[in-house]
Amino acid sequence: MNGKIIYLDNNATTRVAPEVFEAMQPYFCEFYGNPSSIHRFGGSVAAAIENARRQVAELLGAVYRDREGNASEIIFTSCGTEGDNSAINAALAALPERRKIVTTAVEHPAVLHYCDELASGKGYIVEKIGVDSCGRLDMAALKAAVDDNTAIVSAMWGNNETGTIFPVKEIAAIAHAKGAYFHTDAVQAAGKVPVNAAECDADFIAISGHKLHAPKGVGALYIRRGIPFVPLICGGHQEKMRRGGTENVASIVGLGKACEIARTALETEYTQLKTMRDAFEAKLLAAIPRIRINGDPENRLPGTSSVSFECIEGESILMLLDMFGICASSGSACTTGSLEPSHVLRAMGIPYSAAHGTIRFSLSRYNTMEELDFVVEKLPPIIARLREISPYWEESK
Ligand code: PLP
Repeated sequence: MNGKIIYLDNNATTRVAPEVFEAMQPYFCEFYGNPSSIHRFGGSVAAAIENARRQVAELLGAVYRDREGNASEIIFTSCGTEGDNSAINAALAALPERRKIVTTAVEHPAVLHYCDELASGKGYIVEKIGVDSCGRLDMAALKAAVDDNTAIVSAMWGNNETGTIFPVKEIAAIAHAKGAYFHTDAVQAAGKVPVNAAECDADFIAISGHKLHAPKGVGALYIRRGIPFVPLICGGHQEKMRRGGTENVASIVGLGKACEIARTALETEYTQLKTMRDAFEAKLLAAIPRIRINGDPENRLPGTSSVSFECIEGESILMLLDMFGICASSGSACTTGSLEPSHVLRAMGIPYSAAHGTIRFSLSRYNTMEELDFVVEKLPPIIARLREISPYWEESK
């Protein structure tokens, strides 16, 4: 592609960090042994995996080390989706007499579609707890829904569309009070806000490499020590029999490195992203009439900005932004292609006239304020032009 790209779609996926890419390289042509092999050549690769496991554990505050000194509460997966599915699958297998799953209406499809499958295919009761207009969870409804029949509560840490952060520690307490497991999808939160297994008391935490500058196709799942874990993917003895399949070594090494970078830079990056995002939103609000910022104003992931522009289509805005090399998304990447507003915006009760014109800008450490200022410069004429030809705009005046 020619021309400069302004990449503001980091909740969809991120650029692999150069340091991560560098850390991965020896594991393609140099250290290519199978980590399960008895020979030392394979053993050195197994050691690299254990190092990555420790790096992931350190990001997630998983302090337990087994007799070999390994962070065995972490298993590697192929993606965030696998982590989410695995956690729910394991909880249901561990508490077979319980038939209910409690989740939220704004989860990623990695949780929602799996729960729908379990409801239609296996007869589980699935309750999806609603949110308010800022995307905050209805905690009273959650408390009422979790009962002695509930095997697992699955609630995300930070929302991929609006960035709204859920009170995971309180949710964990509600689940545990009824003897249910608690899983949190921290795919968008890990590396952006502190995610600490010990503090939040989660039983399972899923993360995904490609959201934090590691490659696509690798993820990790924290499984609290002592939980009887039934694997979703059965095969060899890898990952202490918790996830069959020869390990994706280079990507695992990359995920470890990405977690280490994210952990050491967490505070600085949080401030950097939040400062840029807040300035960007303030400038947009000043430059364009009738827009709204979605999500919890107090408790939001620092780099996520979901903006609704009334009376126009998000897809048209995206196409015009694309002409300037600006990459953003409407709703979540997974719902792109559908003209229905996303399930998250619908759950929040955002009026259709605004939900249709919603754009998600998502930042990373590689963005600059100059890039955001460029968007602020190009966006007002785009919105004005689209509103001029929108029949809804005239009607709404
Ligand atoms: N959970 C959330 C909150 C996400 O945003 C995503 C991806 O967009 C996923 C899960 C799925 O992750 P993966 O693409 O690694 O399967």
